[in-house]
Amino acid sequence: MIGATTAESQGASRQNPEPNEPLIRLKDLERSYPQGSSRYFVLRRIALEVRDGDFVSIMGPSGAGKSTLLHVLGMHDGDWSGEYEFLGRPVHRLPAKERAQLRNQNIGFVFQRYHLLDDLTVYENIEMPLSYRNVRKSERSGIVCDVLDRFGIVAKKDLYPSQLSGGQQQLVAVARAIVANPKLILADEPTGNLHSEQGKEIMELFRRLNEGGTTIVQVTHSEINAAHGRRIIRLKDGWVEGESAVPSEPPASRP
Ligand code: ADP
Repeated sequence: MIGATTAESQGASRQNPEPNEPLIRLKDLERSYPQGSSRYFVLRRIALEVRDGDFVSIMGPSGAGKSTLLHVLGMHDGDWSGEYEFLGRPVHRLPAKERAQLRNQNIGFVFQRYHLLDDLTVYENIEMPLSYRNVRKSERSGIVCDVLDRFGIVAKKDLYPSQLSGGQQQLVAVARAIVANPKLILADEPTGNLHSEQGKEIMELFRRLNEGGTTIVQVTHSEINAAHGRRIIRLKDGWVEGESAVPSEPPASRP
């Protein structure tokens, strides 16, 4: 099992605090690509609010726009129209450098295809977000070693991504996303390549982080994974089709 930090354990013992002020606000957000002489719309007039401390699952059929939405939220994609406020800051008006700063300070991203850096070792990949946050080199090794230990991948620390299985790369990608204790975790099918026990551990880790205050938005096809969150947003053909709350009893007691 992926071990909890003291902060997570304290969070887990709290009574699920209700999410509070808005962390993310989208208004009329649209993303399109040129198609012949017109445009093909992937996201249509998205209005969405994610409060600090929320745990949201984005679901919907393949091609619905889920990954595209996550990449907009993660500020990797800047080519959209509409309004996006993050922590009260108007992302739609920020220059690229300020967007990058906002992202590096606050967001951990688990990519569907991991996007580990091939010429860096497991250790160096996990260390990377700490360097963006100006954590001193002397402090970094303790933090990285702790995460390697919690994820049970100490023995892999000097290997390169190409020397790992898909599942191991996904674990490293999750470790990299959480190492700097980000305010927001965005995860695109974070358990897609893990066997079911590992997948369950990642979801339990996310739940503990969320109970400790971390906001999480995940894309998932799995109703079981979505049951670990608080809300489900369903996308279809680029539109928000509906939204539902997840019942509040712990996943273990659900059928
Ligand atoms: P989902 O994650 O729900 O499966 P995506 O967000 O990956 O969906 O993609 C939504 C739609 O956007 C798909 O129809 C896809 O083909 C289209 N799309 C994604 N990237 C591009 C691109 N670079 N150019 C054109 N269309 C794209």
